[in-house]
Amino acid sequence: SASVSDDYSVQKTNDDATESKYAAIQLKYWEDPFIDHFIHGCNDMPHRRDPEISRGYWARTAAVFSIVEQFVEKVGPSAQIVSLGAGFDTLYWRLKQKGCNFGRYIEVDFASVTAKKIRLLRNPHKTPDLASFFSEKLAESHHTDLHAGDYHIVASDLRQLKELETKLFTTGLNKAEPLLVIAECVFVYMTVAQSTELLKFFTSNFQNVSVINYEQVNMTDKFSQIMTNNLNSRGIVLPGITACENLETQKQRFLDSGFDYVHVWTMDKIYREFLDKIEVARIEKIEFLDEKELLSQLLDHYCIVNAVKEANSKLDFKNITP
Ligand code: SAM
Repeated sequence: SASVSDDYSVQKTNDDATESKYAAIQLKYWEDPFIDHFIHGCNDMPHRRDPEISRGYWARTAAVFSIVEQFVEKVGPSAQIVSLGAGFDTLYWRLKQKGCNFGRYIEVDFASVTAKKIRLLRNPHKTPDLASFFSEKLAESHHTDLHAGDYHIVASDLRQLKELETKLFTTGLNKAEPLLVIAECVFVYMTVAQSTELLKFFTSNFQNVSVINYEQVNMTDKFSQIMTNNLNSRGIVLPGITACENLETQKQRFLDSGFDYVHVWTMDKIYREFLDKIEVARIEKIEFLDEKELLSQLLDHYCIVNAVKEANSKLDFKNITP
């Protein structure tokens, strides 16, 4: 059916993300000794990316890392993190490598993606040993789900809330403890009605919950037409694009889903105003850009949202910036 083939194209977007990150990591935009395990699960051999793309991935990785790290610092070891549509993301290991301690880190994706991730992370011939980072010995319930103390992978379609709910609570996710939800390039693949239901699930079950959403914004001009046509031509449909029209539409969908405070920044603003200036200077030396305008245009078409519901205002998630 159409939806099966669409789901297949959507899962391929994870290969795209992994390959682009791998290419940037090879050029030393940032360090990630963990991605090597996962690049072998992708379909194409990574090729060189335009410098704008690598800078964009660097900014996205740096900004998300910074927000997650601050959340964990505020909450402490009981912090819970759920990564929606996590794909082959290595954030769990990068946080642990930096000495971050949290209660639970749960990744969700389609079964075909989680099964692959589990197989790749267990590769006994590769270093570092990814399973050695888990707080408990790895116990696999079946080949698509993994439970290992502070690290869990569960297979679920994010549009099937009943299944998702059951899966999330088998990991020991605790409604009484603060939760950070990460959605990096995920909501755009479902309708706004579906992502709103998903967000409401979190605001109705948790008293203290923050969502980090990274995705497209300002999708109304010529530049954005080229971006969407490029995806459409590869069979990728973006049913959620209507929420990406501008910063206001991005903000509104979170207010409609039960969040009290919503901050949204374009990646251009984050790049210019929030990210570490020394790091920016370092990565700008890696590859020369003769025209800075294109980078700024590209970054203006992505944003990060921090949406917060906090019963305990002492947690102060609402003042976290990238
Ligand atoms: N978050 C990762 C990152 O930033 O590198 C991967 C992003 S990739 C563009 C989108 C991911 O979301 C894919 O792994 C895809 O399988 C997953 N995804 C999209 N729609 C989904 C759904 N309805 N249920 C579960 N996973 C979904």
